[in-house]
Amino acid sequence: MKKRNTVQLLGIMSILILISVQVFIIRGIWKQKDEMFALRYTTWSQEAFNYIRRGMSTDGFDTVRLLLANYSEKANKELHAIKDEKELAVKKKDILDYFTKVVNQEQDLSGLLSSYFEMRGFEKNFKYTIVINNLEMISNDTIVVYQSEDFSKRPPPDRGGRTGPSEISKSKIFVTWRWMEDNNYRFFIDYYIDFSDKQKVILKETAASLAMSTLSILVVVIIFMITYKNLMEEKRLSNLKTDFINNMTHELKTPLSTITVAGKTLEMVQIRNNDAKILETAKLIGKQSIHLNQLINMILEISMWERTQFQLDKKTVEIEEIMNDVVDSFRSGGGNGASINQKYNFGGAKVDLDIVYFTMLINNLLSNAVKYSDKDPVIDIEGFAKDNNICIKVSDNGIGINKIDQKHVFDKFYRATTGNIHKFKGLGLGLYYVKKIAEAHGGDVTVSSKPGKGSIFTITLPY
Ligand code: ADP
Repeated sequence: MKKRNTVQLLGIMSILILISVQVFIIRGIWKQKDEMFALRYTTWSQEAFNYIRRGMSTDGFDTVRLLLANYSEKANKELHAIKDEKELAVKKKDILDYFTKVVNQEQDLSGLLSSYFEMRGFEKNFKYTIVINNLEMISNDTIVVYQSEDFSKRPPPDRGGRTGPSEISKSKIFVTWRWMEDNNYRFFIDYYIDFSDKQKVILKETAASLAMSTLSILVVVIIFMITYKNLMEEKRLSNLKTDFINNMTHELKTPLSTITVAGKTLEMVQIRNNDAKILETAKLIGKQSIHLNQLINMILEISMWERTQFQLDKKTVEIEEIMNDVVDSFRSGGGNGASINQKYNFGGAKVDLDIVYFTMLINNLLSNAVKYSDKDPVIDIEGFAKDNNICIKVSDNGIGINKIDQKHVFDKFYRATTGNIHKFKGLGLGLYYVKKIAEAHGGDVTVSSKPGKGSIFTITLPY
């Protein structure tokens, strides 16, 4: 159990590490593609911007300049006349709002850029943002209406100029900046574009790597699961084998020790003169030898079945007759006080059967019904012929089998409670035989059961 948990834990951990590494790689690729996308569009928009300036001798802000010139003279005078701080703040906000509205609504740059992108066959649908970084109203003195934090850190355009904001925003692509002024105002703006389809484009570009990593993770997970399953199956089989050897040793030891004790008894002087005792002991030795022989034959037969296909000696027989014979001989062989109800009616159906193996099949079911019983065993045998099939149901009132064990009871060496602690003796081979025999006849066997309520074994055979 401990080993199993360690293997499971190690496997899950390595898969998690693998997934994390893949996620890390994919994120790296995504980031790279994202940066390349931004770089591409920065270059293209720069190209576009130069083209527009050269070809049309405009920067796209002509209308803006006109509107601001009309507005700013009056606004500037009003601003300079205000003394009250509160009023001043309100006026500053009005002026900034107007400037922001005009630069965002009245510029032609976005339309011109979009047409240029379309002409070159690039993605042309973008959103634009214009950010005012600094706005001053000029008269005899200058009133700063607004200044962004970022702006104060940048070098002024007249000293070395600038090519973009200090920190490029994640989704926005910086295109250009403008410094505009006339007699009444001076202001500074940044122009950005933002592609709503950017994620889709990047997804398309990374799809191949994404699919490959998902596939590789999937393959590793599948390989791990198969290996783990095989490992567990091997472990289960090895446990079953150990249990089988323990049980078999126990089964073989019982008759052997009886024979040894009987041999010793025969050596005793008192016994040698007592004919009746000698006969009794000899019978005991004979009986135990037969039992021992049966056990050894069973084991030999199993190994033979493993190597070669079943050799059936089939004869066409009336199934009802055979069933009666098998049940009668089971009763006369003791039947351990079981009450057996024969409720079958096969309507004279004739079936091709190997009588020896079929007898063994029914005998195994009957002896299990008696063996796995905690009260007086009552066995019902039902049977009928239907649609080219013979159906035989053997029901008991025994201890029953739980759902998990039901799946395995027909496996070789499987016992519902494993190991020597099993209070019912056995080798875990009886039902394995039943299944093999039924299948060799072209049929099958199934079980349905409820713990504490009894079990029903159903045999179907073609006829
Ligand atoms: P064995 O009886 O030697 O253990 P079998 O192959 O005959 O081996 O049965 C496999 C297991 O199925 C048994 O160990 C037992 O737990 C369970 N089993 C079989 N028949 C019955 C039954 N009629 N009622 C309850 N349990 C059964």
